[in-house]
Amino acid sequence: MITPVLPTYARAPLSFVEGSGPWLITETGERFLDLGAGIAVNALGHANPRLVAALEAQARRLWHTSNLYQIPNQQKLADLLVDNTFADTVFFTNSGTESVECAVKMARKHFSHNGQPERVEIICFEGSFHGRSSAGIAAAGSEKMVKGFGPTLPGFRHVAWGDLDAVEATIGDATAAVMVEPVQGEGGIRPMSEADLRRLRALCDAAGALLILDEVQCGMGRTGKLFAHEWAGITPDIMAVAKGIGGGFPLGACLATEKAADGMGLGTHGSTYGGNPLACAVGIAVVETMTEDGFLDNVSRLSGRFRQGLEGIAGQFPDVFAGVRGSGLMLGLMCRKPVPDVVKAGYDAKVIVVPAADNVVRLLPPLNISESEVDEALARLETVARSLQAEVVT
Ligand SMILES: *Cc1c(COP(=O)(O)O)cnc(C)c1O
Repeated sequence: MITPVLPTYARAPLSFVEGSGPWLITETGERFLDLGAGIAVNALGHANPRLVAALEAQARRLWHTSNLYQIPNQQKLADLLVDNTFADTVFFTNSGTESVECAVKMARKHFSHNGQPERVEIICFEGSFHGRSSAGIAAAGSEKMVKGFGPTLPGFRHVAWGDLDAVEATIGDATAAVMVEPVQGEGGIRPMSEADLRRLRALCDAAGALLILDEVQCGMGRTGKLFAHEWAGITPDIMAVAKGIGGGFPLGACLATEKAADGMGLGTHGSTYGGNPLACAVGIAVVETMTEDGFLDNVSRLSGRFRQGLEGIAGQFPDVFAGVRGSGLMLGLMCRKPVPDVVKAGYDAKVIVVPAADNVVRLLPPLNISESEVDEALARLETVARSLQAEVVT
C-alpha cells in the first residue's frame, strides 16, 4: 500500500526535532554534526538568532499580501542583491527550480522580444542538476530524470561536462543561452575551471548568446565569494539563486542584467508566493550577514583548514577516500567505498554528509561553522574512514 507521503525519497531512519548552529538534535537528545546543512540551505546554521529575530518580527506584523501590492521587504532585498552583484533586476521565487524556470523563460523571451524568435536553444552540460520541473529535467537531460515524463520540453542541447570545444561546435544562431553550474552540486562537486568559465563567457559573447549560471547550490557565499563566478572574474547575463539565500526559509531569486530581462514586461511572469514578506525578511538578514566585513574571508579561511584536514584523512585512508575536490565550504570527498556506506558510517559517527553523483559525498557545512567545529568534523570523518577501512580487514 502506498504511504501517505508519496514515496519518492530514500529517507534515512533519522528525525531531528531541534537544531543549533551546525548541530542537529534528535528526539532522544542525540547530537549530530551537520555537514549537509539541508543541502546547502542552512548557510548560517540552524536557529540562527538573527534570522529567527527577522522571521519572528515579520511574522507578528504581516505574512503575505501577494504581488498585487508593493512589498517593501522584496524591494529592499532586490536592492541588496543589485548592489552586491552584476544584476540590475531580480525576480523572486520559492525554490531553485522556479529560479531556473524563470531564467530559461527570460532567455527565450529576450530573443523573441528582439526579433529573433528562432533563438530558443539552451546548451547544457551532462551531469548537471537544474531542478525537477519539466524545463529543469529537460535541461539536465539525464535518462534517470526524464524517463517516463515525456514528451520532454524541446530546445535543450547537451554537451559533456567541461567539453568547451563541444560548446563551440554547438553554439550558433539558434542558441538562446548556455546554462551551467560553476560548481556542479548533485553531479558530485565538480568545479568548472576559471579558464573554462571565461572561455564560456567569450563563446556566448561571440555567438550573441546569453550566459545563464545556476548558482542555486554554489552561490550565496558557499565558495568564499558571494557567488562562485566571481572567482573567474566573469559575470553572467542571468543567474538562478535559491538554497542558501533563505537560510532555511523557502526563497529563490532569478537575477539578470537589464538587457537580458528586456522581454520580461508586465504580465510576462509571476508567482503567488514569490518574494513574500516573510521570505524576504529572512533573505535580507542572510544577505546582510554574508556581506558584512570578514564573513566571506572567514569562509575561505575555514575552507583551508577543513580541506587540509580532509586531504590528510584521504591520504591516511586511501582505500576509503580517493581525494578531495571543490571550493570554499562546498567540498566533495571522492569515495572508494560505496557512497551509501559512507553516509551510513557518518550516521553511526554522528556526522551528516550528503550523497552526490560520481562517487562523491558532499560536505556543505553552515558557512559560520567555528574552527573547533571544523576540527570536530574532521575527527568524526576520521572515525568514519577508520570504520570503513576496518571492514576490509574483517
Ligand atoms: C537544488 C538545486 C536546484 C533545484 O532547487 P529546488 O529548490 O530543489 O527547486 C537547481 N539547481 C541546482 C544547481 C541545485 O543544486
